[in-house]
Amino acid sequence: MVQKGPQSEGRIARTVLQKLESLHRAGVSHMGKVPLRAETPPADMAAVAQSPDDDRAAALAAGTHAPGDDQAAALAAVQREVAACVRCAELARTRKQTVFGAGNPLARLVFLGEAPGADEDRQGEPFVGRAGKLLTDMIEKGMKLKRRDVYIMNILRCRPPGNRNPLPVEAAACRQFLDRQLAVIQPEFICCLGAVAAQNLLQTTTSIGRLRGHFHDYQGIKVLCTYHPAYLLRNPSAKRPTWDDLRLLMEEMGLRVP
Ligand code: SF4
Repeated sequence: MVQKGPQSEGRIARTVLQKLESLHRAGVSHMGKVPLRAETPPADMAAVAQSPDDDRAAALAAGTHAPGDDQAAALAAVQREVAACVRCAELARTRKQTVFGAGNPLARLVFLGEAPGADEDRQGEPFVGRAGKLLTDMIEKGMKLKRRDVYIMNILRCRPPGNRNPLPVEAAACRQFLDRQLAVIQPEFICCLGAVAAQNLLQTTTSIGRLRGHFHDYQGIKVLCTYHPAYLLRNPSAKRPTWDDLRLLMEEMGLRVP
């Protein structure tokens, strides 16, 4: 059982800030005689609400035990198992390396793709090619978060040869790692990128067009599905509905929506 005291405190603080922001957006300016916030909010308020990395960065700078250390250690233990995994014989034979996942072990938001591609297989990091660059822009320019504040991983941790879709048996084999990573991180939100991620996570055959645009539930985590960045590179007209999905996600997370 992972202890999450400091993290929980951080999350409670963020939740309170988000509730206050929601009330303020709803037009409530005071609770009794107390203003909900100054007319000009502190410049760092959004950062406090949006960055689960702050407490961790401060503790690391002070050389003390940082929030997230326990989770990082737990993830490292799972990662060692993944690195040695040969459950999918073909993938284990053809991969250059496993691609575990990357990001903040305290992330509120996990982005979930389908499987590593050639670039990821080479570098050992998820979403590092052209699609990864677009995902970074979606996170940083669109949502005004830092990529290091979210967590990014895939349904599979090994590249399928020729970038074919994951086989059901492969997705089922890798599911235990997905669930164990989620159990450590305990995110509040998952954003599924593309049909393969969405359909595998939610165990459905419903199209991405019908899955997107509203929230689903996975083990108590709010799940939003949208198009894969690689699809957006091929179909720029899908960027508008994808941005609508991200705005919906931001609203639900209590972030400022432009
Ligand atoms: S895809 Fe997952 S289950 Fe299959 S070999 Fe790789 S790490 Fe193991």
